[in-house]
Amino acid sequence: MPARILDGLKIRDEVFSELKSEISKLHSQGIRPGLAAVLVGENPASQVYVKSKIAACEQLGLASWLHTPPANVSTDYMLQLVRDLNADDNVDGILIQLPLPSQIDSKRVLEAVDPAKDVDGFHPVSMGMLVSNRPGLVACTPAGCMEILRRNNIPIEGANAVVLGRSDIVGKPMALLLLHGNATVTICHSKTRDLPDVIRRAEILVAAIGKAGYVQPDWVKPGAAVIDVGTNKITDPGEAAQLLRNFPERLEKFRAKGSVLIGDVHPDAVQVAGALSPVPGGVGPMTITMLMSNTVKAARLRRASSAAVARP
Ligand code: NAP
Repeated sequence: MPARILDGLKIRDEVFSELKSEISKLHSQGIRPGLAAVLVGENPASQVYVKSKIAACEQLGLASWLHTPPANVSTDYMLQLVRDLNADDNVDGILIQLPLPSQIDSKRVLEAVDPAKDVDGFHPVSMGMLVSNRPGLVACTPAGCMEILRRNNIPIEGANAVVLGRSDIVGKPMALLLLHGNATVTICHSKTRDLPDVIRRAEILVAAIGKAGYVQPDWVKPGAAVIDVGTNKITDPGEAAQLLRNFPERLEKFRAKGSVLIGDVHPDAVQVAGALSPVPGGVGPMTITMLMSNTVKAARLRRASSAAVARP
């Protein structure tokens, strides 16, 4: 029997409707949560991502600001912009769209963001809060994966979980979230030995390596819950034909469009897994959803705490 599909779009709609009621409560207290996005230069993929983040703000009634410095700006310029946004009380969340051009010291810029406004969860303070399991702003993609698991009632406590990939923005925070959910977590990376055997033990598998269809169907434990973070654009007809050999409709669409998005897990794994997040339509929509959720959370935490300080 094919896997249950873990529909990220459906969960996005659920979370959005919960956020709308929280936002209207904040509006009634005179607070309009707001997100400032910084997009340096004209990277077409980044432009698409930022546009969809701003559109989500508008859909939810959040304030948003888009700063678009030219590609040749310096680190100092970026640091001043971040300081200005830190000081602006209307701004609850600051999003620095990555990658930044190579002349900019990305780490310094990200570390200049006020941790209270770090809606991407990339700041070392946010990471430290996560390590010590204290409430804070958690990186959006792994937070979105956890929402997918929880809202589909996939048991985490006691489960053997394997996280494939150890990046700071996906793999590491993902492993920590699963650990805090009382899973037994194994983190795999490019130097892991006997990878298929390690993956075969996973009751929950989160794949985040950036390699189309890398995880083979016979590596997946029958019945496992598989969260596929990978978003790989395939344009080679031979590769598409191999990956989509059992999905004639998708292959047809590829032929019409010239490209297709494939996850890190081979599409045929749908016949082995018990539950599977599709690509596209799984983790992708959850990343923007959690960015919105973090912006509302940041507004609540920051403005509520400044109100408390202002009280006599
Ligand atoms: P990344 O920074 O490039 O990290 C990739 C990780 O995968 C590294 O830890 C690397 O190991 C590991 N890896 C690479 N090849 C491997 C192999 N053959 N076997 C085992 N491990 C391997 O990537 P990322 O930023 O975490 O992103 C991963 C994927 O998720 C990408 O496809 C990206 O597009 C996607 N993504 C999607 C969303 C979304 O919203 N859907 C958000 C973020 C990322 P080493 O550390 O040993 O090099």
